[in-house]
Amino acid sequence: MANGAFIHRSTWASRPRPKGAVAGEGKMTDIAITGAAGRMGRRLITLAREAAIFRIVGAVVRPGHPLIDRDAGEVAGIGPIGLPISFDLKPTPDVIIDFTAPPAMRHWLKVCRDRGIAMVIGTTGLHRVDHAAIDVAAETIPVLQAPNMSLGVNVMFKIAGELAKLLGDDYDVEIVEAHHRFKKDAPSGTALGLADSILVATGRSREMLVSGRHGDDVPRKRGEIGMHSLRLGDETGRHTVSFGTLGERLELTHVATNRDTFVHGALRAAEWLAKQKPGRYSISDVLGLK
Ligand code: NAD
Repeated sequence: MANGAFIHRSTWASRPRPKGAVAGEGKMTDIAITGAAGRMGRRLITLAREAAIFRIVGAVVRPGHPLIDRDAGEVAGIGPIGLPISFDLKPTPDVIIDFTAPPAMRHWLKVCRDRGIAMVIGTTGLHRVDHAAIDVAAETIPVLQAPNMSLGVNVMFKIAGELAKLLGDDYDVEIVEAHHRFKKDAPSGTALGLADSILVATGRSREMLVSGRHGDDVPRKRGEIGMHSLRLGDETGRHTVSFGTLGERLELTHVATNRDTFVHGALRAAEWLAKQKPGRYSISDVLGLK
């Protein structure tokens, strides 16, 4: 259940490593982290090391990266862990956790498929063709893809659709997201996830999404969903869905105050995914939100 999931999630990553918990005893999940030198990758290494249940067997970056051969723990800021950063992956982990960019995700998805490795995909900015490739891979390996790994956002996905349905089509819907200045894709995967949940709940197609508005004659059309992206300093991630009609407005806001919320979700997903059959999963499956 969602509540149980939350209690578990808030405590599991800080559990001390139990004595005798070594790989091969069935207690640890072997993971490799792609994008290991990135913002998410460094926190994944840090929190996976703190947790009792993971063995990090690969920390991977793009070929030619200046940090290749440096110790992954030193790069993450936790001191040496005896694992040099590489651009290839020699050991075969139970799960690859990928927070990179779409072209890199495609490469690692193929590796997972060829070598029978489960994959957690947090990378955003994916296209229709990427989703199709994930569907094909999921016929032979377990794959969990989620544009946002936090419990709060996944609850928001669910209730945004329910709110849209309850309020009906006289309420205009606008989605505003804000992220740090380095973010590449726009709108965010989370904003698109929120839009999708509303589109599905209300039987509309993606053609109803409008990115920003600009011009002398661009009045809102009934049923469209406006998408707006702010890029500001070090903002971790803020999403607001506004439902407005004549005389009132209802707003749903999620604010990520740091990246660890996504990292906890991704690690929890990896632990869960390692035990699943081939198939395509979402974070809602892990958290029991379906
Ligand atoms: P970042 O730019 O800091 O890190 C990405 C890393 O991927 C870089 O270090 C880059 O060198 C590496 N990389 C590129 N090509 C690679 C390859 N072929 N193999 C291995 N590594 C490669 O970005 P970030 O802020 O860590 O975010 C990464 C992705 O995760 C983005 O798409 C972002 O939107 C997404 N993200 C998702 C969630 C979520 O909850 N799903 C949360 C935060 C970020």
